[in-house]
Parts: sequence; structure tokens; C-alpha cells
Amino acid sequence: MKRFLTRIPLISRRIAVFGMLAALAVPTALALPTALRADAPLRIVATTGMIADAARQIGGDLVQVKGLMGPGVDPHSYRQTRTDIVAMTRADLVLWHGLYLEAQMEDFFHDLARKRNVVAVAEVLTRDQLRGHDSYADKFDPHVWMTPVLWKDVVGEVQRALTKARPESAEIFAANTLRLQGELDRLAAYAATSMALVPQGNRVLLTAHDAFGYYGDSFGIEVLGIQGISTESEAGLNRIGTLVDLLVKRRITAVFVESSVSDRSIRAVIEGAAAKGHALRIGGELFSDAMGQDGTYEGTYVGMIDHNITVIASALGADVPARGMDDKLSAGF
Ligand SMILES: [Zn+2]
Repeated sequence: MKRFLTRIPLISRRIAVFGMLAALAVPTALALPTALRADAPLRIVATTGMIADAARQIGGDLVQVKGLMGPGVDPHSYRQTRTDIVAMTRADLVLWHGLYLEAQMEDFFHDLARKRNVVAVAEVLTRDQLRGHDSYADKFDPHVWMTPVLWKDVVGEVQRALTKARPESAEIFAANTLRLQGELDRLAAYAATSMALVPQGNRVLLTAHDAFGYYGDSFGIEVLGIQGISTESEAGLNRIGTLVDLLVKRRITAVFVESSVSDRSIRAVIEGAAAKGHALRIGGELFSDAMGQDGTYEGTYVGMIDHNITVIASALGADVPARGMDDKLSAGF
């Protein structure tokens, strides 16, 4: 107790001195252009919310991250705006996904890479980790964030890119990456436990586009997308008819909408099933290619995937915690 009391004046003195130093430092800091300050945050632009989240988690206070594609934005069809171009040409580091996810921006990134520090982070994955693409023989399914195990490798590539751009902060980036990858291990374990509880007859996941292939492979669930891997083509009536027959025959009762894709085709499937006397309901809204609202738990990578796991497992008949892995999901999805 005595020791504690004697420390108080010392702490107050330190606060006072620190306050004075901080006050003195302000004019100097303002007078210098940001780029000349050694402690200026590394300016990063990232395409998807998932990559922006990884950069923020790893970089902490040492980075300033701008994500181009917000909640509900479809990366397959997104084109860079004038504001995006300005931000990317001013950035210290530009992170994009690659694997033909940002199909409309590929040429732009290849050009930009000649002048700026640009990294396609998902292209670190090897051929044997990737699934094929349904429309292109020479391309892969880009939706690798759907399983935390693959995302860990992508997070490792984000760490390498940050470290190369700011080697003096390597230790901090390494510690933050380790912490994030530990969270991803925990998320992977939650996914495996939850999905194992889905009864055998219900193991079908039908969504608007084919974003859940890696998820299905990891957890032994059949995945059907009304549209293909990309969202570019409209679903045909034949495809909808085939899916309706399959759902009726298998007595599947829940299908899912996605936050970044129109729900029109899913509604057509529900109506088609109703016409055959089979009641289908929407099992919930999944975050396929974009995260939830900024500032919410679902607006982080871990929250987005926790939401998907919990909504899918629960709608398909598993008894999982309603508010997810850490009791953080918004109630009533
Ligand atoms: Zn997609």
C-alpha cells in the first residue's frame, strides 16, 4: 500500500512532463509533410473488406488502411472509381486479392504494379490448395476467405507485404499476425464443431452464387450456387428448374441469400418449390464476398465468418449458440 501511495506523485509528474512534450511536439509535427515523418503511418489501400481487415489487424497504429469495397459491394463486377485511382497512386502499398476475383480491375492492377508497390495476396496459395473455376479452365475459385485455414496463409502474405514496405516494424507485424492467426485457428475449430452437428440429410447449402465451394469442401457439405463462381452471368430458367427439383426431392427446407448479390434468383427458387407444394424458407443472409457494416462485429473478418458458420449450421438443424463463437453476433439474424 505504501509503495502504491508513493508512486502517485511520480506518475502525475510523468503525465505533466509528457503533456508538455506533447504540446511542444505538435507544431513541429504539423510543419512536416506526412511523407517525411519517419513515424507516419504506412498508407495502404486494399480492395476487399477482408484484406483491409487483415492489414488493420497486422499493422495496428502503424498503418492507415482504406478499403475500396464496402459492405454489400460485389468484387466480381466492381470497377475502380476516380477517387480509388487517386488513393492507389498515393498509397505506399496496394493490396488486392487476385485469382481473378477483381475481374474488372485486373488490367489496372497489372499497369499499376509497374509503378507502385502492389501485391495480389491470395496468389500466395498453391495450386493444390485451390479449387478449379467452373467457367475458365486456367483459373481458380477465388473465394478462399471462406475457410479460416486458407485465409491464414493469405494473412501471412499480408504480413510479408507490410514487412517489406516497413522493415523496421517487422517485430510488431509478426506479433500481431501471430495473434490474428491464433483467432483464425479458434474460428476454424468453431466451424468444424458446428458444421459436424448438421444432420446428414440436411447437408446442402444453396446460395445465390457459388461462393461457398471451399466451405463445402472443408466441412463435407454439398454446395449449390444458382449463378456460377462469378456473379457476371444471370441464372437461366433451366438451372432454377433443376435446383427446385433437387431441393424438393431431397426435402431441403432452407436456402440462403447473400449480402452482396441480388436475392431475385433465390426468390425464384422459393416460388418454384412452392408451386410444387414444397415449403422453402430463407435460412438467413450470408456474407459471401463482402463483410458486414463498418464498426460492427460482422464488419470484421472473424465476425463475418462466425456469422456465416452460425447461420448456416443453425438453419440446417444444428444446435449452435445463437450469438456465435464468442456471443458477439447481433441477435435475430
Ligand atoms: Zn463471389
